Amino acid sequence: MPRESQHVAAQEYSQLRTVIKGQVLEPGDAGYDDARTVFYGKFHHRRPAVIVKVADANDASQVVNFAREHGIDLAVRSGGHSLAGHSNPDGGILIDLSLMKGLEFDVPNRTAWAETGLTAGEYTVAAGKHGLATGFGDTPSVGIGGLTLGGGIGFLVRKHGLTIDDLLAAEIVTADGEIRHVDANNHPDLFWAIRGGGGNFGVVTRFKFRLHEIDKIVGGMLILPATPDVIAEFIAQAEAAPDELSTIANVMVGAPMPFLPEEHHGKLIIMALMAYTGDVSNGEKIFAPFRALSPLVDMVQTMPYPEIYKLMEAEGGPPEEVARTLFLDTFDRDVAETVVEHLQRASTFAVAQFRVLGGAMARVPVDATAFAHRSRRYMAAIGAVYERAEETPTHLAWLNDFVAALNQGAGGAYVNFLSDEGQARVREAYPGATWERLTAIKGRYDPTNLFHLNQNIPPATNGARS
Ligand SMILES: Cc1cc2nc3c(=O)[nH]c(=O)nc-3n(C[C@H](O)[C@H](O)[C@H](O)COP(=O)(O)OP(=O)(O)OC[C@H]3O[C@@H](n4cnc5c(N)ncnc54)[C@H](O)[C@@H]3O)c2cc1C
Repeated sequence: MPRESQHVAAQEYSQLRTVIKGQVLEPGDAGYDDARTVFYGKFHHRRPAVIVKVADANDASQVVNFAREHGIDLAVRSGGHSLAGHSNPDGGILIDLSLMKGLEFDVPNRTAWAETGLTAGEYTVAAGKHGLATGFGDTPSVGIGGLTLGGGIGFLVRKHGLTIDDLLAAEIVTADGEIRHVDANNHPDLFWAIRGGGGNFGVVTRFKFRLHEIDKIVGGMLILPATPDVIAEFIAQAEAAPDELSTIANVMVGAPMPFLPEEHHGKLIIMALMAYTGDVSNGEKIFAPFRALSPLVDMVQTMPYPEIYKLMEAEGGPPEEVARTLFLDTFDRDVAETVVEHLQRASTFAVAQFRVLGGAMARVPVDATAFAHRSRRYMAAIGAVYERAEETPTHLAWLNDFVAALNQGAGGAYVNFLSDEGQARVREAYPGATWERLTAIKGRYDPTNLFHLNQNIPPATNGARS
């Protein structure tokens, strides 16, 4: 929904410079082009009217008030990995949190206050120095802001649940410019909504997380031949394993990676990322069923937990991508065969990723947070990457066929893996009562939908704040 008054004069933006402690960057300013660069290349042409690198919650509040009063589109960015390009708008104001990297550990109480300019990797490395960890995703450059607000599914999901299951409190600037502390007792409705509801409710400037004692793990990468039998068995073993093991299986064509024997280049492989956070002396036993599948490459070893992130260090995303998120409840040989068939038909580099869920994530009641997919057994993400935008219809047709063949009827989408797919898909991320509750809370805290450059939850028109 475009705002009415997008034509704010340059001198009005310059008012911001008088009140902001951080940086205000307009086109032509040194640093503006760097500041508008995000992970995905397909959004690099976009030019926000002004980018405000906020220094603290008060700065964020000033920008929120300015955008609301002038009727300007407002976008919010932590790590810049939005698949939909929501954190790099064309025109409007962008609040960029990347200067806010404060991190305070309370080691005896196993908690940390983290500013939302931190990436998952930065937080994990710092926490690792204390032998502690909070679970985020699989990639170090992803921002803790977007990842946490959408749920957060990573290497600790089966042992400790989603990232939001370790979220104890947050500091958030709401649409009225107020800086609020939210937790189970203060604004519990808002605290519920930000645990899965994405960036719809305000600018989160700090999170308070629970930390777990995780020093050494057994984990890393295992590459296996991707036959239907091996894929199905891998998933079955990952599900049968104790909660201490979380796995991410990427089925894809083997690229000419130096550690992959040449005869497997161009053939389908499973590139599995695995983390076992139990007693390291059990590692051999835990990984035996996977090693029985004759890995082509075995890089699983005992390592400090933060090292697992080294496997997925990424400078920048692909120039073009089509992707789809879905949940599955059955994964047998037929499903594995469908996966192989469709990947073999892809005319560009394509990946089908499967994460076995369950464990701690599934033990949290479904209505405890705004993430509503806790009973689903597997999360899938299918994607194809390519160079030229003209190829999009071809790869989209392939993707639609693949997803239709995998579809088991129950729908569902993980909000953090949604691209720009329209309102019906946002509804799939928030089924049933979750949607009603989210729209009511949105109506209370953001009745004019100031925060609409996101996977948008429109405000209902009644309700009082708690
Ligand atoms: C390479 C890659 C790997 C990924 N791996 C995983 C994974 O393993 N597990 C997983 O769960 N997800 C994963 N994701 C998805 C990721 O969680 C989302 O893309 C997430 O939105 C990125 O957060 P960000 O802060 O980097 O992105 P941004 O683009 O900065 O933010 C995305 C959106 O989140 C909202 N937002 C961000 N920060 C704030 C804030 N401080 N206050 C209010 N709103 C905010 C805004 O609406 C913004 O448009 C991955 C994404 C990529 C690109």
